[in-house]
Amino acid sequence: MDKETLLFEKLPSGALRCNTCQRTCILNEGQWGYCKTRINKNGKIYSTIYGSISSVFPDPIEKKPVFHFKPNSRIMSFGTLGCNFRCKFCQNWDISYATGQDLRKAQEIMPEKAVEMTKKLKCEGVAWTYNEPSIWLEYTLDTAKLAKKENIYTCYVTNGFATKEHIDLIAPYLDIYRVDLKSFDKKFYRELINVVKFEGVYENTKYVKDKYPEIHIECVTNVIPSWNDSEENLKKIAEWIVKNLGKKTPWHVSRFHPDAQLLDVPETPLETLSKAKEIGEKAGLEFVYIGNAPAIEDGENTYCPNCKKLVIERSFYSTKVISLKEGKCGFCGEDLNIRV
Ligand code: SF4
Repeated sequence: MDKETLLFEKLPSGALRCNTCQRTCILNEGQWGYCKTRINKNGKIYSTIYGSISSVFPDPIEKKPVFHFKPNSRIMSFGTLGCNFRCKFCQNWDISYATGQDLRKAQEIMPEKAVEMTKKLKCEGVAWTYNEPSIWLEYTLDTAKLAKKENIYTCYVTNGFATKEHIDLIAPYLDIYRVDLKSFDKKFYRELINVVKFEGVYENTKYVKDKYPEIHIECVTNVIPSWNDSEENLKKIAEWIVKNLGKKTPWHVSRFHPDAQLLDVPETPLETLSKAKEIGEKAGLEFVYIGNAPAIEDGENTYCPNCKKLVIERSFYSTKVISLKEGKCGFCGEDLNIRV
Protein backbone atom coordinates (compact mmCIF):
# COMPACT_ATOMS: atom_id res chain seq x y z
CA MET A 1 0.00 0.00 0.00
CA ASP A 2 1.32 3.48 -0.85
CA LYS A 3 1.85 5.78 2.13
CA GLU A 4 3.16 9.33 2.11
CA THR A 5 6.55 9.29 3.80
CA LEU A 6 7.55 11.27 6.87
CA LEU A 7 11.06 12.49 6.16
CA PHE A 8 11.62 14.33 2.90
CA GLU A 9 12.29 17.87 1.80
CA LYS A 10 11.96 19.87 -1.38
CA LEU A 11 15.21 21.14 -2.87
CA PRO A 12 15.56 24.44 -4.79
CA SER A 13 15.82 22.40 -8.01
CA GLY A 14 12.32 21.01 -7.36
CA ALA A 15 13.64 17.50 -6.68
CA LEU A 16 12.87 15.81 -3.36
CA ARG A 17 15.42 14.49 -0.90
CA CYS A 18 14.50 11.44 1.18
CA ASN A 19 15.89 11.77 4.70
CA THR A 20 14.86 8.33 5.94
CA CYS A 21 18.30 6.76 5.70
CA GLN A 22 21.83 8.01 5.23
CA ARG A 23 21.75 7.47 1.47
CA THR A 24 19.57 10.62 1.34
CA CYS A 25 18.48 9.89 -2.23
CA ILE A 26 17.53 12.85 -4.40
CA LEU A 27 14.49 11.97 -6.47
CA ASN A 28 12.98 13.71 -9.46
CA GLU A 29 9.34 13.09 -10.38
CA GLY A 30 8.77 9.38 -11.04
CA GLN A 31 12.16 8.28 -9.68
CA TRP A 32 12.68 5.47 -7.16
CA GLY A 33 15.18 5.64 -4.32
CA TYR A 34 18.14 3.30 -4.00
CA CYS A 35 16.03 0.90 -1.89
CA LYS A 36 13.40 0.81 -4.65
CA THR A 37 10.65 1.09 -2.05
CA ARG A 38 10.16 4.88 -2.19
CA ILE A 39 9.09 6.93 -5.17
CA ASN A 40 8.57 10.62 -5.99
CA LYS A 41 4.97 10.92 -7.16
CA ASN A 42 3.28 14.27 -7.74
CA GLY A 43 5.69 16.19 -5.53
CA LYS A 44 5.67 13.80 -2.57
CA ILE A 45 7.64 10.70 -1.66
CA TYR A 46 5.58 7.57 -1.08
CA SER A 47 6.57 4.28 0.52
CA THR A 48 5.15 1.35 -1.45
CA ILE A 49 5.76 -1.25 1.28
CA TYR A 50 3.54 0.04 4.10
CA GLY A 51 1.82 -3.07 5.48
CA SER A 52 3.63 -5.36 3.01
CA ILE A 53 4.95 -8.38 4.86
CA SER A 54 7.30 -10.90 3.25
CA SER A 55 8.00 -12.91 6.40
CA VAL A 56 6.36 -13.25 9.78
CA PHE A 57 7.26 -15.62 12.58
CA PRO A 58 7.10 -15.90 16.38
CA ASP A 59 10.79 -16.36 17.21
CA PRO A 60 12.69 -16.75 20.46
CA ILE A 61 14.35 -13.38 21.14
CA GLU A 62 17.68 -15.22 21.19
CA LYS A 63 17.31 -15.73 17.43
CA LYS A 64 17.67 -12.00 16.63
CA PRO A 65 20.26 -12.47 18.34
CA VAL A 66 19.41 -10.55 21.51
CA PHE A 67 20.65 -12.25 24.69
CA HIS A 68 20.32 -9.55 27.36
CA PHE A 69 16.69 -8.46 27.06
CA LYS A 70 13.90 -10.59 28.52
CA PRO A 71 15.79 -13.87 28.02
CA ASN A 72 13.63 -16.73 26.79
CA SER A 73 10.75 -14.50 25.66
CA ARG A 74 9.07 -14.78 22.28
CA ILE A 75 9.15 -11.98 19.77
CA MET A 76 6.85 -11.64 16.78
CA SER A 77 9.15 -10.93 13.86
CA PHE A 78 8.12 -9.08 10.70
CA GLY A 79 10.04 -8.46 7.50
CA THR A 80 9.15 -6.60 4.30
CA LEU A 81 10.92 -6.23 0.94
CA GLY A 82 14.01 -4.29 -0.12
CA CYS A 83 17.06 -2.81 1.55
CA ASN A 84 19.20 0.30 1.52
CA PHE A 85 22.33 -1.91 1.51
CA ARG A 86 23.29 -4.39 -1.18
CA CYS A 87 25.31 -6.95 0.81
CA LYS A 88 26.90 -9.49 -1.49
CA PHE A 89 26.70 -12.01 1.37
CA CYS A 90 23.06 -11.38 2.39
CA GLN A 91 21.40 -14.48 3.82
CA ASN A 92 17.92 -13.11 3.17
CA TRP A 93 18.65 -11.93 -0.38
CA ASP A 94 15.35 -13.27 -1.73
CA ILE A 95 13.50 -10.54 0.17
CA SER A 96 16.19 -7.87 0.55
CA TYR A 97 17.04 -7.83 -3.17
CA ALA A 98 13.30 -7.64 -3.99
CA THR A 99 11.74 -4.22 -4.46
CA GLY A 100 8.62 -2.28 -3.62
CA GLN A 101 7.72 -2.45 -7.32
CA ASP A 102 7.16 -6.18 -7.02
CA LEU A 103 4.88 -6.99 -4.13
CA ARG A 104 4.05 -10.53 -5.21
CA LYS A 105 6.21 -11.89 -2.42
CA ALA A 106 4.25 -9.98 0.25
CA GLN A 107 0.96 -10.22 2.12
CA GLU A 108 -0.79 -7.25 3.72
CA ILE A 109 -0.75 -7.00 7.52
CA MET A 110 -1.63 -3.57 8.87
CA PRO A 111 -0.22 -2.36 12.23
CA GLU A 112 -3.41 -3.14 14.20
CA LYS A 113 -3.42 -6.70 12.87
CA ALA A 114 0.33 -7.08 13.55
CA VAL A 115 -0.19 -6.19 17.22
CA GLU A 116 -3.25 -8.42 17.44
CA MET A 117 -1.24 -11.37 16.03
CA THR A 118 1.54 -10.66 18.52
CA LYS A 119 -0.88 -10.91 21.42
CA LYS A 120 -2.69 -13.91 20.03
CA LEU A 121 0.54 -15.87 19.63
CA LYS A 122 1.58 -14.89 23.15
CA CYS A 123 4.68 -12.99 22.11
CA GLU A 124 5.98 -10.32 24.48
CA GLY A 125 7.70 -8.29 21.80
CA VAL A 126 7.70 -7.20 18.15
CA ALA A 127 10.80 -7.11 15.94
CA TRP A 128 11.34 -5.65 12.48
CA THR A 129 13.94 -7.95 11.07
CA TYR A 130 14.80 -10.34 8.18
CA ASN A 131 15.40 -7.27 5.98
CA GLU A 132 16.23 -3.66 6.88
CA PRO A 133 13.63 -1.83 9.02
CA SER A 134 15.08 1.62 8.41
CA ILE A 135 13.47 1.73 4.93
CA TRP A 136 10.13 0.91 6.58
CA LEU A 137 9.83 3.80 9.03
CA GLU A 138 6.18 4.72 8.48
CA TYR A 139 5.05 1.15 9.21
CA THR A 140 7.46 0.42 12.07
CA LEU A 141 6.52 3.69 13.76
CA ASP A 142 2.75 3.13 13.55
CA THR A 143 3.14 -0.45 14.77
CA ALA A 144 5.54 0.52 17.56
CA LYS A 145 3.11 3.14 18.89
CA LEU A 146 0.32 0.57 19.07
CA ALA A 147 2.63 -2.07 20.56
CA LYS A 148 3.75 0.22 23.40
CA LYS A 149 0.11 0.89 24.32
CA GLU A 150 -0.27 -2.87 24.79
CA ASN A 151 2.94 -3.14 26.84
CA ILE A 152 4.70 -5.06 24.05
CA TYR A 153 8.43 -4.41 23.68
CA THR A 154 9.90 -3.43 20.31
CA CYS A 155 13.13 -4.20 18.49
CA TYR A 156 14.97 -2.90 15.40
CA VAL A 157 17.36 -5.42 13.83
CA THR A 158 19.24 -2.94 11.72
CA ASN A 159 22.30 -2.16 9.64
CA GLY A 160 22.53 1.16 11.49
CA PHE A 161 22.19 3.40 8.43
CA ALA A 162 19.03 5.32 9.37
CA THR A 163 19.31 9.10 9.74
CA LYS A 164 19.29 10.83 13.10
CA GLU A 165 15.86 12.32 12.28
CA HIS A 166 14.63 8.77 11.77
CA ILE A 167 16.09 7.65 15.10
CA ASP A 168 14.45 10.62 16.83
CA LEU A 169 11.04 9.55 15.53
CA ILE A 170 11.25 5.87 16.41
CA ALA A 171 13.35 6.01 19.61
CA PRO A 172 10.54 6.97 22.01
CA TYR A 173 8.80 3.72 21.03
CA LEU A 174 11.87 1.47 20.75
CA ASP A 175 13.24 -0.85 23.43
CA ILE A 176 16.03 -2.68 21.58
CA TYR A 177 18.52 -1.55 18.94
CA ARG A 178 20.23 -4.65 17.55
CA VAL A 179 22.83 -3.30 15.17
CA ASP A 180 25.29 -4.87 12.73
CA LEU A 181 28.82 -3.51 13.05
CA LYS A 182 30.06 -5.28 9.96
CA SER A 183 33.60 -3.96 9.75
CA PHE A 184 35.89 -1.04 10.45
CA ASP A 185 37.25 -1.16 6.94
CA LYS A 186 36.19 1.18 4.10
CA LYS A 187 36.91 -1.45 1.46
CA PHE A 188 34.52 -3.93 3.11
CA TYR A 189 31.58 -1.52 3.09
CA ARG A 190 32.41 -0.18 -0.37
CA GLU A 191 33.03 -3.45 -2.19
CA LEU A 192 30.69 -5.85 -0.43
CA ILE A 193 27.82 -3.49 0.41
CA ASN A 194 28.08 -0.47 -1.87
CA VAL A 195 28.27 1.99 1.02
CA VAL A 196 30.87 4.73 0.91
CA LYS A 197 30.54 6.42 4.30
CA PHE A 198 30.43 3.49 6.71
CA GLU A 199 31.32 5.80 9.63
CA GLY A 200 27.66 6.81 9.73
CA VAL A 201 26.77 3.38 11.14
CA TYR A 202 29.07 3.91 14.13
CA GLU A 203 28.05 7.55 14.61
CA ASN A 204 24.39 6.54 14.67
CA THR A 205 24.92 3.75 17.18
CA LYS A 206 26.70 6.16 19.49
CA TYR A 207 23.91 8.67 18.95
CA VAL A 208 21.34 6.09 20.11
CA LYS A 209 23.45 5.22 23.14
CA ASP A 210 24.07 8.84 24.21
CA LYS A 211 20.66 10.31 23.50
CA TYR A 212 18.47 7.33 24.38
CA PRO A 213 20.23 5.42 27.18
CA GLU A 214 17.01 3.56 27.97
CA ILE A 215 17.29 1.68 24.64
CA HIS A 216 19.09 -1.63 25.01
CA ILE A 217 21.86 -2.17 22.42
CA GLU A 218 23.46 -5.39 21.18
CA CYS A 219 25.96 -5.62 18.30
CA VAL A 220 26.67 -8.32 15.72
CA THR A 221 29.65 -8.90 13.44
CA ASN A 222 29.33 -11.65 10.86
CA VAL A 223 32.95 -12.77 10.48
CA ILE A 224 33.79 -13.34 6.80
CA PRO A 225 37.11 -15.02 5.95
CA SER A 226 39.64 -12.69 4.27
CA TRP A 227 37.19 -9.76 4.37
CA ASN A 228 36.75 -8.68 8.00
CA ASP A 229 38.44 -11.42 10.06
CA SER A 230 41.82 -9.78 10.64
CA GLU A 231 42.89 -9.30 14.23
CA GLU A 232 43.29 -5.58 13.58
CA ASN A 233 39.75 -5.16 12.27
CA LEU A 234 38.05 -7.21 14.99
CA LYS A 235 40.09 -5.43 17.66
CA LYS A 236 39.00 -2.04 16.30
CA ILE A 237 35.32 -3.03 16.45
CA ALA A 238 35.62 -4.44 19.97
CA GLU A 239 37.56 -1.42 21.24
CA TRP A 240 35.02 0.91 19.65
CA ILE A 241 32.19 -0.87 21.48
CA VAL A 242 34.00 -0.70 24.83
CA LYS A 243 34.78 2.99 24.42
CA ASN A 244 31.44 4.16 23.02
CA LEU A 245 28.79 1.72 24.25
CA GLY A 246 30.42 0.27 27.34
CA LYS A 247 32.09 -2.99 28.29
CA LYS A 248 28.79 -4.63 29.26
CA THR A 249 27.37 -4.34 25.72
CA PRO A 250 26.88 -7.82 24.24
CA TRP A 251 28.89 -8.48 21.04
CA HIS A 252 27.90 -11.44 18.88
CA VAL A 253 30.54 -12.73 16.45
CA SER A 254 28.74 -15.02 14.07
CA ARG A 255 29.72 -17.63 11.55
CA PHE A 256 29.50 -16.74 7.86
CA HIS A 257 27.90 -19.20 5.44
CA PRO A 258 28.39 -18.66 1.68
CA ASP A 259 25.25 -17.11 0.19
CA ALA A 260 23.91 -14.68 -2.43
CA GLN A 261 26.84 -13.41 -4.53
CA LEU A 262 29.59 -14.47 -2.13
CA LEU A 263 29.67 -18.17 -2.82
CA ASP A 264 33.42 -18.47 -3.34
CA VAL A 265 34.29 -17.65 0.28
CA PRO A 266 34.33 -20.60 2.73
CA GLU A 267 32.49 -20.81 6.05
CA THR A 268 34.27 -19.10 8.92
CA PRO A 269 36.64 -21.58 10.59
CA LEU A 270 35.69 -22.30 14.19
CA GLU A 271 39.17 -21.24 15.36
CA THR A 272 38.61 -17.79 13.83
CA LEU A 273 35.43 -17.38 15.86
CA SER A 274 37.13 -18.48 19.07
CA LYS A 275 39.91 -16.04 18.31
CA ALA A 276 37.36 -13.24 17.70
CA LYS A 277 35.81 -13.95 21.12
CA GLU A 278 39.27 -13.79 22.69
CA ILE A 279 39.98 -10.47 20.94
CA GLY A 280 36.69 -9.04 22.24
CA GLU A 281 37.39 -10.15 25.79
CA LYS A 282 40.94 -8.84 25.65
CA ALA A 283 39.56 -5.47 24.53
CA GLY A 284 37.47 -5.46 27.73
CA LEU A 285 34.07 -6.72 26.59
CA GLU A 286 32.37 -8.81 29.26
CA PHE A 287 29.84 -10.57 27.04
CA VAL A 288 31.09 -11.92 23.72
CA TYR A 289 29.00 -14.65 22.08
CA ILE A 290 29.68 -16.94 19.15
CA GLY A 291 26.71 -17.35 16.81
CA ASN A 292 25.76 -19.94 14.16
CA ALA A 293 28.38 -22.35 15.46
CA PRO A 294 26.76 -24.90 17.79
CA ALA A 295 29.93 -27.01 17.58
CA ILE A 296 31.60 -24.50 19.87
CA GLU A 297 30.59 -25.47 23.36
CA ASP A 298 29.79 -22.54 25.63
CA GLY A 299 29.74 -20.05 22.73
CA GLU A 300 26.29 -18.72 23.67
CA ASN A 301 26.30 -19.08 27.45
CA THR A 302 26.37 -16.12 29.80
CA TYR A 303 28.91 -16.23 32.61
CA CYS A 304 29.09 -13.65 35.35
CA PRO A 305 32.23 -11.57 34.73
CA ASN A 306 32.71 -11.22 38.50
CA CYS A 307 32.12 -14.65 40.10
CA LYS A 308 32.55 -16.55 36.76
CA LYS A 309 29.49 -18.72 37.40
CA LEU A 310 27.15 -19.84 34.61
CA VAL A 311 24.09 -17.60 34.75
CA ILE A 312 22.24 -18.40 31.50
CA GLU A 313 22.69 -21.55 29.45
CA ARG A 314 21.76 -21.50 25.74
CA SER A 315 21.76 -24.15 23.08
CA PHE A 316 19.90 -24.30 19.74
CA TYR A 317 17.61 -21.44 20.81
CA SER A 318 16.71 -23.20 24.01
CA THR A 319 17.46 -20.94 26.96
CA LYS A 320 17.73 -21.87 30.61
CA VAL A 321 18.10 -19.12 33.17
CA ILE A 322 20.19 -20.56 36.00
CA SER A 323 20.37 -17.66 38.40
CA LEU A 324 19.34 -14.10 37.70
CA LYS A 325 17.90 -11.49 40.06
CA GLU A 326 16.46 -8.35 38.47
CA GLY A 327 19.05 -8.45 35.71
CA LYS A 328 21.93 -9.06 38.10
CA CYS A 329 23.93 -12.20 38.77
CA GLY A 330 21.89 -14.37 41.14
CA PHE A 331 25.08 -15.59 42.83
CA CYS A 332 27.06 -12.42 43.51
CA GLY A 333 24.82 -9.51 42.47
CA GLU A 334 27.07 -8.25 39.63
CA ASP A 335 25.31 -6.02 37.07
CA LEU A 336 24.97 -8.08 33.86
CA ASN A 337 23.23 -5.41 31.78
CA ILE A 338 20.25 -7.70 31.37
CA ARG A 339 16.76 -6.21 31.15
CA VAL A 340 14.12 -8.55 32.56
S1 SF4 B 1 15.09 5.05 2.48
FE1 SF4 B 1 15.41 4.44 0.31
S2 SF4 B 1 14.86 6.27 -0.85
FE2 SF4 B 1 15.15 6.94 1.25
S3 SF4 B 1 17.28 7.61 1.38
FE3 SF4 B 1 17.23 5.46 1.99
S4 SF4 B 1 17.65 4.28 0.13
FE4 SF4 B 1 17.07 6.35 -0.50
